[in-house]
Amino acid sequence: MIISVASGKGGTGKTLISTSLALSLKDDYDVTLADCDVEEPNACIFLKPQIAGSEFVNTRVPVVEEEKCTFCGKCAKVCAFNAIAVFGNHVLTFPQLCHGCGACSYLCPETAITEEDRHIGVVEWGDAKGIKFVQGILTVGEAMAPPIIRQVKDHESGEGIIIRDAPPGTSCPVVETISDSDFCILLTEPTPFGLNDLMLAVETVRELSIPYGVIINRTGAGDAGVEDYCEKEKIPVLMRIPLDTEIARIYSRGIALVDAMPQWKSRFVELYKEIKEMADERTGSIKR
Ligand code: SF4
Ligand code: SF4
Repeated sequence: MIISVASGKGGTGKTLISTSLALSLKDDYDVTLADCDVEEPNACIFLKPQIAGSEFVNTRVPVVEEEKCTFCGKCAKVCAFNAIAVFGNHVLTFPQLCHGCGACSYLCPETAITEEDRHIGVVEWGDAKGIKFVQGILTVGEAMAPPIIRQVKDHESGEGIIIRDAPPGTSCPVVETISDSDFCILLTEPTPFGLNDLMLAVETVRELSIPYGVIINRTGAGDAGVEDYCEKEKIPVLMRIPLDTEIARIYSRGIALVDAMPQWKSRFVELYKEIKEMADERTGSIKR
């Protein structure tokens, strides 16, 4: 079962939820924590994994041999990402924009374009207190998160429960992370910003037909907008975490919620049971 933890904005507590869920389930289930927030992976701070292996993530980018080039401009025309341009008697490439689709080299009439590997990040894996752990790290200055997320997913265990910590927002890296999930937890906070970003996240999971529910973090602050929206849209609120200086303090010290406050563990176990029921119901209704 794959459970993704996502949110329309950063700083809502995705990692607090994903690490606490993993730690609460690890004694009874085979659990993998996949940190797909590759621009800022921080589940490792809370789980302190022993890293057992790593590998580079590369994409293929074009290299132009100008001696062969007639500067016809076909490569620039076909590139949907403006990653290659022809100016007079020069061809410029912008590797950070390149999606590695290969269209330019395929269409070049002079076979003037070859490809080379470009290193954009790394994937690491290991063990964290009995939890299988995998994370992707995008090299600073690089922009292409999806290839790293795909490689993180390749290293997930094929069995048990996989918990993915998704990047914030609703763009391509989020879609890459959650698209094959059995369930998506959407984190939010009870503020107008939180509501706005939750609505965008709900649109995304609905578009992808993924069952989902909401966790509201820092309840007691802000307003009732998120609660009203969930009620109106019949979206299940799976958990509420209060605005609590003790929770904020342990989080800022890199301690997982359930490690510092074990009384939360049973609530995360119950959360998983509720999620499983909803995901199973959905699978059953699709089969019927
Ligand atoms: S398609 Fe090939 S020949 Fe034409 S401008 Fe690009 S590299 Fe040069
Ligand atoms: S490989 Fe694709 S994305 Fe990259 S420069 Fe060529 S056409 Fe553009």
